This record gives sequence, structure tokens and C-alpha cells, in this order.
Amino acid sequence: MPRSAQSVIRVLLVEDEPKLRKSLVEGLQLEEWHVMGAASSAEAWHHLDTEVFDLIVLDWMLPDGDGLEIVRRLRTQGNSVPVLMITARAGASAAVQAKQSGATDYLAKPFSFDDLLSRCRALLTGAS
Ligand code: CA
Repeated sequence: MPRSAQSVIRVLLVEDEPKLRKSLVEGLQLEEWHVMGAASSAEAWHHLDTEVFDLIVLDWMLPDGDGLEIVRRLRTQGNSVPVLMITARAGASAAVQAKQSGATDYLAKPFSFDDLLSRCRALLTGAS
């Protein structure tokens, strides 16, 4: 379903590392996207249960759980929002595991902000 050109893009960014979360939120806000930051799985669900997002940027390892569990639960609920996993787990097996859990794309840490942004843009236009 195409997104209305007038609508504000809403992004949920889940990352427990405070400096990284702050820099990513601020960087994505420069795109004039509406970006919500969450530091844990519980915070992420607080937003997911009450709001609709166009994109989720999701850290794999969270202090109170596993980011892949969030993706699995979203897919079980029938939510097809694009999910970009970000993780220090490198390698092909991690990427395969992320996709099998329902993640749309996968980006290994450390990554450049430009790389993250181009992945986000691709996911928002359905070009992934
Ligand atoms: Ca983490």
C-alpha cells in the first residue's frame, strides 16, 4: 500500500546504547521524519501497542530481551512494517537468522550513518 506523499514518516528506533540512540534519532530527525527512540523491548512495545510506524530500526540485543522476538511477535500479529535489524553480530548466519525471524533488512555494527539512512530510505520506498 503506497504511503501518502503528505504523511509524516514515523520511525521507531530501538537501541539501548544511549549515545548511539541519541545520534541516530537526531540524524533521522534531520530527514524531517518523526522518530521515537526506545531503549528496551518494554519501551518498544509501549510505542508499538499505541502507535503505527512506517519503519522500525531495531537493535538485536536489548537489556530486557531479544530484538528478533519483537519482529516475530509483530509478524505473528500480522504487522508487516519494514524492520531494519542493527547488530554487532556479524556474518551471513546472523543475517539469515534475522531474515528468517521476519526482519526486512540487516545492518552490522559499526555502520556509517549514511549507510543506515540509505537502507532506511530503501525500506520506506519498498525497494529492498
Ligand atoms: Ca544492544
